[in-house]
Amino acid sequence: MTVELTPTIDISQETQLSHYPNSEISRPSWTIEDSEKLYRIQGWGEPYFSINAAGHVTVSPKGDRGGSLDLLELVEALKQRNLGLPLLIRFSDILEDRIERLNACFAKAIARYKYGDAYQGVYPVKCNQNRHLVEDLVRFGEPYQFGLEAGSKPELMIALATLKTPNSLLICNGYKDREYIETALLATRLGHKPVIVLEQLEEVQLVIDIAAQLAIEPVVGVRAKLTTKGTGRWGESTGDRAKFGLTIPEIISCVDQLRNAGMLNSLQLLHFHIGSQISAISVIKDAIREASQIYVELKNLGANMQYLDVGGGLAIDYDGSKTNFHASKNYNMQNYANDIVAEVKEACEARQLPVPVLISESGRAIASHQSVLIFDVLNTSDVLPGEPTPIQEKEHLIIRNLWETYRTINVENYQEAYHDAIQFNEEAKSLFNLGYLSLTQRARAEQLYWSCCEKILQIVRTQDYVPDDLEDLEKIMASIYYVNLSVFQSVPDSWAINQLFPIMPIHRLDEEPTRRGILADLTCDSDGKINQFIDLRDVKSVLELHPLRQVGERDTEREKKQPKTSNPKSMSVAAQSTIQNPKSKEPYYLGLFLAGAYQEIMGNLHNLFGDTNTVHIQLTPRGYEIEHVVKGDTVTEVLGYVQYDAEDLVESIRRRTEQALQENRITLEESQRLLQNYEQSLSSYTYLY
Ligand SMILES: *Cc1c(COP(=O)(O)O)cnc(C)c1O
Repeated sequence: MTVELTPTIDISQETQLSHYPNSEISRPSWTIEDSEKLYRIQGWGEPYFSINAAGHVTVSPKGDRGGSLDLLELVEALKQRNLGLPLLIRFSDILEDRIERLNACFAKAIARYKYGDAYQGVYPVKCNQNRHLVEDLVRFGEPYQFGLEAGSKPELMIALATLKTPNSLLICNGYKDREYIETALLATRLGHKPVIVLEQLEEVQLVIDIAAQLAIEPVVGVRAKLTTKGTGRWGESTGDRAKFGLTIPEIISCVDQLRNAGMLNSLQLLHFHIGSQISAISVIKDAIREASQIYVELKNLGANMQYLDVGGGLAIDYDGSKTNFHASKNYNMQNYANDIVAEVKEACEARQLPVPVLISESGRAIASHQSVLIFDVLNTSDVLPGEPTPIQEKEHLIIRNLWETYRTINVENYQEAYHDAIQFNEEAKSLFNLGYLSLTQRARAEQLYWSCCEKILQIVRTQDYVPDDLEDLEKIMASIYYVNLSVFQSVPDSWAINQLFPIMPIHRLDEEPTRRGILADLTCDSDGKINQFIDLRDVKSVLELHPLRQVGERDTEREKKQPKTSNPKSMSVAAQSTIQNPKSKEPYYLGLFLAGAYQEIMGNLHNLFGDTNTVHIQLTPRGYEIEHVVKGDTVTEVLGYVQYDAEDLVESIRRRTEQALQENRITLEESQRLLQNYEQSLSSYTYLY
């Protein structure tokens, strides 16, 4: 190999050689603070998630009130209990903390603005209908008379069975038929406080009739279509043409119908919902202002107004940037409560009317933090060409050109070199197609091309400004991390609407993540991947990850202490280490956070990967306790969803092996093995153990 002599003497290397014979120190090493910054864990995770001195993610389920668990230790303990990955871990204490926070924020705002009435929230069941979760919510909400919101008949069934808190509200939204309305009204007899929110004009007469038949005086609300538009992803669900709610003329007609039926006294609530994840506080303020005016006007029209229900929309800061970006929000929970309380008070005071009880239907803000999805990396595929072998004189011109490009790449010419490399690589392909280049030569050209890209990328990463045409380089060079997960099942919104969730390794955070990767799931669908990650500004197309390593490799690596920026030499070492024996690979766990809202229920059985294992963890003075274990789907169960009967399947395989045996196409041993595997697979988890 030819070494180019550069005029400058590498002092660091000299020092290293003379003073640190084992090349132990001399470069700044990666710290957990670097990981905190990189993965923005404080931005989205506080006060529940952080990193401990061992470089593991910790969970503090009670927020600031102490007590924390090492997530890696927890996962390993759960694995020992035969709970395979992917694993959804729920922290009931986080749920409790969220409920407390929301109520505390409203209590504080009410005190601050001397608001003359109370806040009485409800949890929208649609956000996460899991029984254990809804039951927990009802229990934790009891001190605040927290109620439930149902958006459909099945959700009403859940709410009726679960809600036990005296005086809590049961808000009945969604499209309603006779059965829905009857059931809701009859619930009054059980001590519930249902509010039937009219969303369609046709529902008015239905409610009037059924109330008369049952002789139950209903509490009725109207859902207003506001002109205030939500922003971002869900912005379309509001405004004049929104799917839900009554326009102003419809509300007036509704008031008339109720008045004519002598039931205007029943109209007590105004509801609106401008969409979920409202990132901008200005949008929330506009909506409250508009709704407050409608509220006071309804009161003036003679309705017996008591409640203002501001719906959902309270956002989550998924990327921790505190901006009005769709994955973030430019306000906190206290700002939200303050603005609602202040705006409503002002509107009522201006007309000298008493203020209403305030209701919010915050789902995302309550349920997102409580669950963490842990999954493991099965394998990686990397583009790590390493340092190419030097050029031989007789090599093809195109290869020599690529080599020359590679050799001369520097900070000054890297952009030009990139275009050259692309062009030479294209030319190499054409030459091959025309028969002028052998397969081996083409391979050599391609490898040189990747070596150029790698070298250029190393330079690009040190630059503050990246020219547009080089922006994709990181993506092109990204490693693929194959993960034991189905995006469609566990994070459908990541696929369906490109929603961002914080994802990061839960250990090795005291080590520099030297790879850049995207995640590919187990399904055969090319959409089954995650290639958008949170970033301070906008979105990242690759995630910083650690190379997988062999069991026992950790100790040797610690001794070596990797250099901070990898040079071509260490790259070729890395390239070798990717050829691994899967048996001795050390587990590498990733966590996906803040996905406790909306993800679980919308999951679909793509490639028949079913529900994941779920555990409920509660903090105890001594550590933690597993409250519930909900085993994920078995293969038999998911096959049942698509109408295959396990016994029939086994029987059909048995008959075929029997026939093969008769015809001597299979040995007795093989046939037993096949049947045994088949039966065992049917009763196992759909994911890879
Ligand atoms: C979905 C929904 C909610 C919950 O919204 P979040 O943004 O999750 O708080 C509340 N009310 C209604 C009517 C909804 O449809």
